[in-house]
Amino acid sequence: MSFTSFGLSERIMDAVRAVGYTTPTPIQSLAILPALAGKDLIASAQTGTGKTAAFVLPMLHRLTEGDATRGHQRDPRALVLTPTRELAQQVQQAVSDYGRFLSLRALSVYGGVSIDAQFKQLRRGADIVVATPGRLLDHMQRGSIDLSHVEVLVLDEADRMLDMGFIRDIRKIVGAIPKKRQTLLFSATISSDIASMAANILNDPQTVEAGERHNPAATIEQHFYAVPKERKMDLLVHAIQTESMESVLVFSRTKHGADKITKRLDQRGVVAVAIHSDRTQGQRERALESFRRGRVRVLVATDIAARGIDVTGISHVINFDVPLYAEDYIHRIGRTGRAGATGSAITFVGSDEQQYLRRIEQFIGRRFTLQQYPGMPAVTAFSAVPAEKPRRSEQMHIQPKSHTRENYHKRPRSKKAPIMTARKKKPIGKMESFSSSVGEQRWSNH
Ligand code: AMP
Repeated sequence: MSFTSFGLSERIMDAVRAVGYTTPTPIQSLAILPALAGKDLIASAQTGTGKTAAFVLPMLHRLTEGDATRGHQRDPRALVLTPTRELAQQVQQAVSDYGRFLSLRALSVYGGVSIDAQFKQLRRGADIVVATPGRLLDHMQRGSIDLSHVEVLVLDEADRMLDMGFIRDIRKIVGAIPKKRQTLLFSATISSDIASMAANILNDPQTVEAGERHNPAATIEQHFYAVPKERKMDLLVHAIQTESMESVLVFSRTKHGADKITKRLDQRGVVAVAIHSDRTQGQRERALESFRRGRVRVLVATDIAARGIDVTGISHVINFDVPLYAEDYIHRIGRTGRAGATGSAITFVGSDEQQYLRRIEQFIGRRFTLQQYPGMPAVTAFSAVPAEKPRRSEQMHIQPKSHTRENYHKRPRSKKAPIMTARKKKPIGKMESFSSSVGEQRWSNH
């Protein structure tokens, strides 16, 4: 399929060519035609798969088509809701990129910045508003935005909006939009909560799914390393310094953790910046900009702050801790391996984090080998507990990475020994002292 087969307007096609896209991504191939036909859509697409263009291109086409009928009216005709300000900015950027030859005005409205400036911008009018739910609701309550002319509503990363507790805000916002509209819902995962939200908000939707539902992009290499909590920092520094990591995104579950990691990296000569929700918008933007421009090689982020980070060329994602929710794992590692590029995702698994690794395995429907980081002595003991069998529906997606691992699980339990796959590399000096006897199912430091 090519972009020309969609029948997008020439000006939009010029923009697509200008940004250098030649072939639609799978989600674009599936979503653009029904969206152009005016259908409501539930689209399941991983992050980094080109989902933004999948809704922005048909949205722009529709807005330019109806342009003649709109007169001087400048209340928004399209509204995109996103969970975070970073994602809102990213979507707004995509709208400007793809709409560069159109005379549509787009505006993003999110919290954490002065509301006064947004009042002014809203007074000037906008065809497209990209907003986070909380701030948008604020504007609605103050009467600074009128949603009664919205024709297209997009819920981007709907699963995350639900996770963040935006469901009530979304309901109120949707209540202020005409019923006669097109609604496009994009989500990395389609849970029962998403399905019930869709049932209330969408009208006879068509469902499109790009790729296997829970599978991260195939271009991402995934590694899981067993490492005790107190050695994670050593391992992080070692990994960054010895592997050729050009651009590293390190994830921490907490803001405090993100700050601590950044500080410790700095102390050990690795320049890093942190982004999380306790930092001001300006700090977050500056940090992101230094990282994007390659002035800083390491960005440390929390899950929420990292939503919407679209930096090309992130070579490595390192999960300093295992995310509590498998969906977060997919989102985290989706920051690398974007748009067909290869990437590497490394997860440090502490002895108390096995349960979260199991969740990821179940979610993806695939087992992972818990590896020993090259150079670390044999301490991987906890892999002897087999993962629960994936549900039938998930079994369809099983792509065993290692036959050894698969066969291992077929052996009688008593014969099982811990699995370790170690790549040959230089030992890490500091870690040599860290030891435990293989097969004892125990960590030395716990
Ligand atoms: P998204 O999933 O929308 O965040 O997009 C991920 C990345 O893919 C962004 O950097 C886009 O610019 C890029 N992208 C989107 N569509 C295409 C395409 N058809 N060809 C190449 N790159 C694309």
